[in-house]
Amino acid sequence: MRPLPGATLHLLDTRQPPESPVHCDNCSALCCRLTVVLMPEDHAVPAEFVAVDPAGLRVMARGENGYCMALKGNMCGIYEQRPQACRRFLMAGPYCRAIREDSARGG
Ligand code: SF4
Ligand code: SF4
Repeated sequence: MRPLPGATLHLLDTRQPPESPVHCDNCSALCCRLTVVLMPEDHAVPAEFVAVDPAGLRVMARGENGYCMALKGNMCGIYEQRPQACRRFLMAGPYCRAIREDSARGG
């Protein structure tokens, strides 16, 4: 379509804004609020961050705010020693997306 000379062409942009990417950089470390059960091979985790849950499982200790005690700011404070469960947790994977969506809904 060619506009008339001097006319202003108004086009309605019906595109949706691009989704923000699922990335740890725009997340408040939501996965570090999950219960992290330790495996026998997780011997490098410092003892001060280990707790035992009511079922007798060794887990990462969590603070009153619900976050893992090893979290420093928005980063894992024991990155090199972090448990297997944390190593396997996929950024932008289904579980990551699910807890982000749950949090966005106020969960
Ligand atoms: S892995 Fe997912 S839930 Fe965890 S900090 Fe990164 S974006 Fe957030
Ligand atoms: S060990 Fe590190 S990555 Fe795992 S839950 Fe704690 S702070 Fe998060």
